[in-house]
Amino acid sequence: MASSEQRNKNCKRNDYINWHDYFMATAFLAAKRSKDPSSQVGACIVNEDKKIVGIGYNGMPLGCSDEEFPWAKNSEDVLENKYFYVCHAELNAVLNKNSADVKNCTIYVGLFPCNECAKVIIQAGIKEVIYLSDKHSQKSSTIASKKLLNAAKVKYWQYQPNQSKIVIDFDEINWNDMNQLPQSPEKYDVTEKNDVLLSVEKLRL
Ligand SMILES: [Zn+2]
Repeated sequence: MASSEQRNKNCKRNDYINWHDYFMATAFLAAKRSKDPSSQVGACIVNEDKKIVGIGYNGMPLGCSDEEFPWAKNSEDVLENKYFYVCHAELNAVLNKNSADVKNCTIYVGLFPCNECAKVIIQAGIKEVIYLSDKHSQKSSTIASKKLLNAAKVKYWQYQPNQSKIVIDFDEINWNDMNQLPQSPEKYDVTEKNDVLLSVEKLRL
């Protein structure tokens, strides 16, 4: 709040978030929808005009109940693990697109895409992948993914956010409203009245 209080209301704000933070934060917000207990990933696809054209997060396919399909990772019965069933964020973001296609778009994603998502990204015509974490870089699926992306000349790079936390505070909108109210012209009068009351009380005493 301090920065808002000190803001010069006659000039442009300087503490607005940049485009990369904005799109990455959108991917992270989408990830909050995920029911996966161990991995929540979001993806946000942006076109060349910096318009968001698709958002997705990892989850079960439509009609496949979150309650019935498994979320486990290490069950001995592979049919009881999530891997055969879950749609990754990148796939969902492409399939959720609100434009005719996502050619030449950029995809923002929390985690480096796996090989299956790399295929989707390439086939959809996405030209750039901006990711935050590459924690699975040693996994075969990530190594294969990079082979595919390199061959298809899809650019990828790791983003370092400008700010490590972006807080969404639903109360902020009211705080701003309060701030826009004109200053009370009666402040001095109120003090006067109080003074009078105090005096009356003194007289009574
Ligand atoms: Zn994937």
